[in-house]
Parts: sequence; C-alpha cells; structure tokens
Amino acid sequence: MARYTGAVCKTCRREGAKLFLKGERCYGAKCSFERKEYAPGQHGQNRRRKRSEYGTQLREKQKIRRTYGILETQFHNYYEKAASQKGITGENLLSMLERRLDNVIYRIGFASSLRAARQLVRHRHFLVNGKLVDIPSFIVTPGDIVQVKDKSRKLKVIHDSLRRVKEGRQISYLELDKARLMGRLSEFPARVDIPVDVNEQAVVELYSK
Ligand code: SF4
Repeated sequence: MARYTGAVCKTCRREGAKLFLKGERCYGAKCSFERKEYAPGQHGQNRRRKRSEYGTQLREKQKIRRTYGILETQFHNYYEKAASQKGITGENLLSMLERRLDNVIYRIGFASSLRAARQLVRHRHFLVNGKLVDIPSFIVTPGDIVQVKDKSRKLKVIHDSLRRVKEGRQISYLELDKARLMGRLSEFPARVDIPVDVNEQAVVELYSK
C-alpha cells in the first residue's frame, strides 16, 4: 500500500539539504530532494531570494534541530548546556546531540532512521550497560554499552536494518558487534567525524545576539 511520505521530505526541501530522515529511501532514487531540489509549495521553484545573515543562521539552526528531531525549547537547553562546557560551543552541541540514545542506535545501525530508532527506544527494546532505558534523549557516555534486550533479539526491523550496515561504513566513535546485537560508544564524537553537513557556528552566532 502506498504511504504518504511528503511531510518529512518537505523538510529537506525547505532546508535545501538532505537531512536523511527516511532511512533507506534517502539513499535511493526515490529521495524527493534528488528529484525536486527546490523549496516545497506553489512558488518553491521561483524563490531565489538572497538570505540575510540572520536568515542563514536561522536555517542552520533549523537544519540541526530537524536532523536530530529536537523541539525548539529542548534545542535551546542543549545549546545552554553546550555553552557552559569547556571547548567550542558549536562542537559541544553537536557532540551532545550525537550522543542521544536514539541517535546512537540509528548510527550504530539498529534502526534505519532516527524516527525508527526513537520508536524502538520508547517501546523498551534497548539496554544501556545492562539496564533498560526507554528515554530517547538519554545521553550515552564513552564506554557505555547499548544492547538489544533478550526478548527483542528476534525483532525483524532490527535485523533488517543491521543487514544494510555495510562493512567499513561504521562511524569511528561507535563499535558494533552484530552477532551479540551490541554497540559501544568508544569516545566523544569529534566534529570532524560527525556525518552531519551543517554550520554549527552559525547557531552560536544566532544565540549570541
Ligand atoms: Fe526524504 Fe530522505 Fe530525501 Fe530527505 S533525504 S528528501 S528525508 S528521502
């Protein structure tokens, strides 16, 4: 049966970038952004306005927010926390978002999209260091082990997703043990290794005004 996939894909077209929100679909010919690389709506193709500095900063913030599926207030809280930490605020921000449990599960390959990962966490399929965690925003720290719980080991959706994980595609700060349905965050994600094409410094400038 056909499924409506418009709303999510419109987000990519609105931001003018692929945000990889639909799992496998994002890598194939069915990606809406590949087919219609212009903003959605009746006048999408005619919009060629030059963006102001503020507009550009705002768009970068929305891009990050939507990539990680975070609401506005929650995103601002992440920013405040990142700003209070040592180091470069923008990089702290991305590093923190990257370590959310839903994102770690998606990146490791237990789910084909961030949305799917979030649903799996809410449905109580994962343990962190042996304890059940059903909060998608739970922050994973280096050394933590994320594992599919025993009763969920046969879940088809997890195995289907893992089958698509190609050897060598693994992200440097994450380790995967496919046979044991187990993953580990080995270190804090460094900006250079985070596979997200955004300008996080623009967000810092936006919030510093
Ligand atoms: Fe849709 Fe994914 Fe393509 Fe974005 S990248 S337009 S979410 S298919």
